[in-house]
Amino acid sequence: MAAITMSGLTKVYPGGVRALDALDLTIADGEFFALLGPSGCGKTTLLRTIAGLEVATGGTVAIGERDVTTLQPGRRDVAMVFQDYALFPHMSVRDNIAYPLRIKKVGRSARAAKATETAEELGLAALLERRPGQLSGGQQQRVALARAMACHPQVFLLDEPLSNLDARMRLEARTFLKRLQRELGVTTVFVTHDQSEALALADRIAVMEGGRIRQVGTPVEVFRRPANTFVAGFIGSTPMNLLDAEVVNGRLAVAGVRLDLPESAHGQVADGESVVYGVRPEYLDYSAAPVEGALSGRVVVVEHLGSHSLVSLDLPVPDGDGPGEGPGGGLQVVVPEGEEPAPGDTGWVRPRPGRALLYRDGELVGAPSPAAVAA
Ligand code: ATP
Repeated sequence: MAAITMSGLTKVYPGGVRALDALDLTIADGEFFALLGPSGCGKTTLLRTIAGLEVATGGTVAIGERDVTTLQPGRRDVAMVFQDYALFPHMSVRDNIAYPLRIKKVGRSARAAKATETAEELGLAALLERRPGQLSGGQQQRVALARAMACHPQVFLLDEPLSNLDARMRLEARTFLKRLQRELGVTTVFVTHDQSEALALADRIAVMEGGRIRQVGTPVEVFRRPANTFVAGFIGSTPMNLLDAEVVNGRLAVAGVRLDLPESAHGQVADGESVVYGVRPEYLDYSAAPVEGALSGRVVVVEHLGSHSLVSLDLPVPDGDGPGEGPGGGLQVVVPEGEEPAPGDTGWVRPRPGRALLYRDGELVGAPSPAAVAA
């Protein structure tokens, strides 16, 4: 097992696409690490550059103490599981699992023993003689994992490991993968564009955009204190509410209402500054009766999501553009089952203490507070 250290890592493809832009990142020994971001942000390129399937055009990659930047994939001691699993269709499960050992010139009986042992660990013992075409998607995924595990690599690299599975199977495979990684303790990097998967599985997440890393943190950190409005909009099953606001007399003017400055922004902003007020739909309390100092708006949509509902409100656009009014906009709030309003109702919405954040020029105002994150 080993840490992975990337310094100034850059990949410019022929034709000029800068898929990785001077990226610095350290993944700790034994960590389960997610690369998350929208399509085209460079996740797969980063994974393939760690694997050695792409050659960096600048910077370095080290695995443990070894600089592997120019090493062939086979000499890096990594195992990659591809999105489509890339199993050999004409080989049995046993031979698929044993294949990398054959390449490494491990003897026939040792190979068979290792393949059986790994298959047993992954609940595949009964399937050893089958071909991949005779397996379910989840079983194929396990065979691909078993093949990667059989060589005891220092690093696992998983490219969208759950994307080929249906929704129910994905949840099952997610739990299985997390347990397996914990048990093996192998440094594991996985690519996903699904923020809920990254939040559920990873010890830490790097959120990428345009070949750069916008934030690295634990799931709790990136969820509760997104470092910028990009991460705020990307993380969470519903994006964070981001409302234009103005600082007036040490308070915030948002949609015609004066709100207290979020704690983390105290002393960090000056009167007259334009900022963005951010609060997650989960961290707002909805009231059907007027509440002092709350934002109020008209309910436009109610989406029932089982144990709770997502309510969308239109905030009023103030009449004038005088100081303290601030622009209007839309707001989403999570409301418990049974307390939903109806479209057309007027509602009052207030953030829970310590949950609102302030962004200036797209970046979080105020140093991240570990206490607030842990709260
Ligand atoms: P997705 O989630 O869609 O797989 P990604 O975040 O994994 O996206 P990459 O596949 O790493 O993104 O691609 C990053 C950028 O590099 C994209 O603009 C892509 O078009 C470009 N790119 C990827 N592979 C190549 C290639 N072989 N040649 C040229 N450009 C490439």
